[in-house]
Amino acid sequence: MINITLPDNSVRKYEAGVTGLEIAAGISEGLARNVFSAKVDGEVWDATRPIGHDAHVQLLTWNDKEGKSTMWHSSAHLMAEAIEALYPGAKFGIGPDIENGFYYDVDTGDRVITDADLVRIEAKMKELAKQKQTYRRRDVSKQEALDYFKKKGDEYKLELINELEDGKITFYESGGFVDLCRGPHLPDTSPIKAIKLTSIAGAYWRGDEKRKQLTRIYGITFPKNKELEEYLHLLEEAKKRDHRRLGKELEIFTFSQKVGSGLPLWLPKGAELRERLESYLKKVQKEAGYQPVITPHIGNVELYKISGHYQKYGQESFRPITTPVEGEAFFLKPMNCPHHCEIYNHKPHSYKDLPIRYAEFGTVYRYEQSGELHGLTRVRGFTQDDAHIFCTPDQVKDEFKGVMAIVMKIFKALDFDNFVTQISLRDPDNKEKYIGTDENWEKAERAILEVAEETGLETVVVPGEAAFYGPKMDFMVKDALGRSWQLGTIQVDYNLPDRFELEYIGSDNEKHRPVMIHRAPFGSMERFVAVLIEHCAGKFPLWLAPVQAIILPISEKYHTYAEKVLSLLQSSEVRAEIDTRSEKTGKKIRDAELKRIPFMLIVGEREEADGTISVRRQGEGDLGTFSVDGFSELIREEIRKLLSDKN
Ligand SMILES: [Zn+2]
Ligand SMILES: [Zn+2]
Repeated sequence: MINITLPDNSVRKYEAGVTGLEIAAGISEGLARNVFSAKVDGEVWDATRPIGHDAHVQLLTWNDKEGKSTMWHSSAHLMAEAIEALYPGAKFGIGPDIENGFYYDVDTGDRVITDADLVRIEAKMKELAKQKQTYRRRDVSKQEALDYFKKKGDEYKLELINELEDGKITFYESGGFVDLCRGPHLPDTSPIKAIKLTSIAGAYWRGDEKRKQLTRIYGITFPKNKELEEYLHLLEEAKKRDHRRLGKELEIFTFSQKVGSGLPLWLPKGAELRERLESYLKKVQKEAGYQPVITPHIGNVELYKISGHYQKYGQESFRPITTPVEGEAFFLKPMNCPHHCEIYNHKPHSYKDLPIRYAEFGTVYRYEQSGELHGLTRVRGFTQDDAHIFCTPDQVKDEFKGVMAIVMKIFKALDFDNFVTQISLRDPDNKEKYIGTDENWEKAERAILEVAEETGLETVVVPGEAAFYGPKMDFMVKDALGRSWQLGTIQVDYNLPDRFELEYIGSDNEKHRPVMIHRAPFGSMERFVAVLIEHCAGKFPLWLAPVQAIILPISEKYHTYAEKVLSLLQSSEVRAEIDTRSEKTGKKIRDAELKRIPFMLIVGEREEADGTISVRRQGEGDLGTFSVDGFSELIREEIRKLLSDKN
């Protein structure tokens, strides 16, 4: 008999060789139907795999992340089986599950897979899934594995097998399809009810441009049709909100191949938007005791040797810039921290000077492969809303608190009310991986945990995820569609102060090392604006909207009055424009609605005579007649509410 410990810590006795599925059946029939796989001592196994020893077991269903992975990876096998049935002789690369669904890389020889094929494959998958095919695991020797795929003529699998250790190779069989795989898989295909193959892309075998290009087919499956429909709806919404599309429509940014890929060009409306975000943060930071600094875009290679960036990233970064002086070389700045350390070092410090908080909207450059670039979220040059705090170990907690207050303020001002905070700590079993003293680590980790507790934030604590130089806190924002984006980060660092020999004289008259805190509430301006566009679907909060109001004269006769309204609005700092086109008012309103301009101000005979404007709110309709001053006050009041600290 063996002891199985379940997640609620209850211990049950079973015959050795019991499976996750059998354990589930003992609990309830419903659970047994829904069990996809089982976590056995931290490793995900087939629910049908016998457990031979005492173990902690967690049964995984569709509601678990790993349960979804099991379903999607099993679906990749099902898709391969369908492809093999439809296109005999097809060869297969790899077929993993991914964040949303799965893919398989296939080589169908001269046959090109098209969208029409996807429909056929989907239909075949449904047919096969209904047969309730089981996924059977089998240990095979390396020779046996090689023989099988040699006979089948699949050079991709042969290459993979050649790299595996004999004795650790398993095959999985479902229907007539045999695959080299570690697993785990579903007990059978019956949970795969709703199937959608979403797209086709080219993918080099093993990511190597010199090797053959295979066809990567992406798909996703669900246990219920309704879930698939919801997912497709979300996908459609996401497409509408894609910041690359909206960024162009709203004239926020552009790219030019002549300038270079991954180098965003901010258009006037985007630059103004960014400036407003920056000046807002600058104001908040000034109130919180930050001091601005400015550093150049390049730095001597030696600087990055001291910081360690050269050793770590030198090979994958832009090549150094050389000068006519023999041996002199510079790097495009990949981060601002080393520069800020040298600013700290420009004079000696006493403990009374600390904390020192240097802030800079510092533009940095990092090489990314062209295939990795994506709109504003993955670029080669970007501006961090960076700051570095230098403080004593005893000040870490208060400083952390201060930074979090700034992050919360920003999230509120921008309407991100759904976010998760991840705290990354040291791996307690592997302390030698980290630098810095135990005492300081404990102090910093305790500080972060206490601050999180005191602020009542929902946090996920992940041991082992800390940077080697210190613990950190990351903010994952959920946008309006429920998608998670990693934005701000706060990191404690014991490493750079050591490397740059930063010091302060303590109250004991001895030299001490300050602790450094890196923080960027937005992350980068580029990424933040991208997330903001997708979150609000281009309908920016009023205080950020590039155009807050558009004046719509009902005919050319009222252009002079419109000009007058415009200049009044401008003098009360309302950002406004006039639509002078000779279009019908209805058409002008529709266009303004589409451009998501918050207010439309209609002016005609009556308004001119009364010195008023008729106000429409985007997405809402008529608000009635206002004096220009009254309207300006309405805008100011709304912005005040958004940016106030009160909820
Ligand atoms: Zn598999
Ligand atoms: Zn930094």
